Amino acid sequence: MGFTENDERRALRSAVADLGRRYGYAYFIEQARSGGRLTELWREAGKLGFLGVNLPERYGGGGAGLYELSVVLEELAAAGCGLLMMVVSPAICGTIIARFGTQAQQEQWLPRLASGSAIMAFGITEPDAGSNSHRLKTVARREGDEWVLSGRKIYISGVDEADAVMIVGRTADARTGRLRPALFVVPTDAPGFTFQPIEMELVTPERQFLLFLDDVRLPAGALIGEPDAALMQLFAGLNPERIMASAMAVGIGRYALDKAVSYVRERTVWDVPVGAHQGIAHPLAQIKIELELAKLMMQKAATLQDSGDGKAAGEAANMAKYAAAEASVRAVDQAVQSLGGNGLTKEYGVASLLAVARTTRIAPVSREMILNFVAQNSLGLPKSY
Ligand SMILES: Cc1cc2nc3c(=O)[nH]c(=O)nc-3n(C[C@H](O)[C@H](O)[C@H](O)COP(=O)(O)OP(=O)(O)OC[C@H]3O[C@@H](n4cnc5c(N)ncnc54)[C@H](O)[C@@H]3O)c2cc1C
Repeated sequence: MGFTENDERRALRSAVADLGRRYGYAYFIEQARSGGRLTELWREAGKLGFLGVNLPERYGGGGAGLYELSVVLEELAAAGCGLLMMVVSPAICGTIIARFGTQAQQEQWLPRLASGSAIMAFGITEPDAGSNSHRLKTVARREGDEWVLSGRKIYISGVDEADAVMIVGRTADARTGRLRPALFVVPTDAPGFTFQPIEMELVTPERQFLLFLDDVRLPAGALIGEPDAALMQLFAGLNPERIMASAMAVGIGRYALDKAVSYVRERTVWDVPVGAHQGIAHPLAQIKIELELAKLMMQKAATLQDSGDGKAAGEAANMAKYAAAEASVRAVDQAVQSLGGNGLTKEYGVASLLAVARTTRIAPVSREMILNFVAQNSLGLPKSY
């Protein structure tokens, strides 16, 4: 791996940045505040081939990797209009279906996920399980040719704009009677499937939902791939999820830093711009360093993932997600501080990102669960929970 991006990646970065600039934060926040969605941007990004850049060419994707997909999300977020559903639809669901889906599932979903004409949400979190996925209670039982799925999910993003949700549930093992994980594609209009928005203090166009699955009847083909492969399937989605969450966080951090730097260059209340005071310049310089470091780890994770070394990618993806979220939170906070009172106005549009950046510390996996992972896997310390 070199440290200079090749021409193709540079061209992709610059084309996505152009698209992002045409929409920008004004579009993002207007949709968020009015209850709108980012549909026009999503569609245009899809048409340009950006949303499916990681998916196989034979299904209409770009045939590239997670590296390229993370470039797309980072650049859109850096322009102020990150597409949260990219973390879920092409990255988690697209990767799992491309690797483990049956041919019928691949034919049904991949071309549409690649073009962006279909969106698939992802539902693992449950009210009583939270970070402890061993406690998942969503269960599927087999009745003849059908699966019957029941359970609850919480904080699931973008269900109102999705055609289907990939649901992580469990099935009873016929031999042992024990429950084991299983992934199902549940159409959002399936009878027995209902969802209700959660009121969030988060100003984004994508909303979070509580899902109710009450005896949802699904055809046998709704189960992803082979019944015994669900754990591997879930793991296949984790690295893409974390790499893309890092891309979102790095992009938001870059956006905030840009806003701060351009403001403090101009704003003068003594004899020099406020950016000349080290009390303002040094924290911004630190953030620049932290964002660059997080990005480097994200690129390492994506490179390892694309080379097929999932285990090494796992460690790097967790570290990247941790570092990117921390840098992003600090970037937005310092941007608000650098703008003084203007940092809290609607006109300058920075404070509304505080909760957005903060989210990257909690979802899709919390800072504490990453520290648990690193303590156990990288340092070999005992498991504490
Ligand atoms: C905006 C947003 C969008 C989301 N979108 C999705 C989605 O699309 N699909 C989906 O499935 N989920 C989604 N989530 C859920 C998200 O993945 C969870 O919120 C997250 O995994 C944490 O789970 P929890 O909220 O239940 O916290 P809890 O598990 O209740 O944890 C509470 C606190 O305790 C800490 N904690 C828990 N266990 C330990 C431990 N063993 N050691 C140390 N600390 C611990 C946590 O880190 C956290 O700080 C979303 C969440 C948000 C906020």
